[in-house]
Amino acid sequence: MADLSELYQQVILDHNKKPRNFKVINPADREQEGYNPLCGDQITIYLKLSDDLIEDVGFQGSGCAISKASASMMTTAVKGKTKEEAELLFDEFHRMVKGELNPETDPHHLGRLTILAGVREFPARVKCASLSWHTLRAALGGNNETVSTELTEE
Ligand code: ZN
Repeated sequence: MADLSELYQQVILDHNKKPRNFKVINPADREQEGYNPLCGDQITIYLKLSDDLIEDVGFQGSGCAISKASASMMTTAVKGKTKEEAELLFDEFHRMVKGELNPETDPHHLGRLTILAGVREFPARVKCASLSWHTLRAALGGNNETVSTELTEE
């Protein structure tokens, strides 16, 4: 398990140093803000949509290492996917960080996102890891109210 946590730390550090898709898309088809008051993480997600396809995704924000790394990994995971595929990933990711889906034994489509499974050991960090995903889902749903993790169950 030491190797796994080392890998986890390396990936988090790498995504913090070089966040992927850390950009404003202007004009964007959707722009959505999210906030995690427990930790102070803030994020804005920009989407470029072509029918049901997520053609491009960018994010801006400030927050802890886990929220930023998770947002960076989220953008690479959903870019080029359909809304339905992104919803499925949201659901699987959410269940994984809450400890309801075990990536080693349950079927899933998470790929490299499973590196963040370690978050389930740190309940206070679950909202940091899931903020970008909640914000993405709100953006896809087209509701413009700021997402707050206080209003979600996790
Ligand atoms: Zn945080």
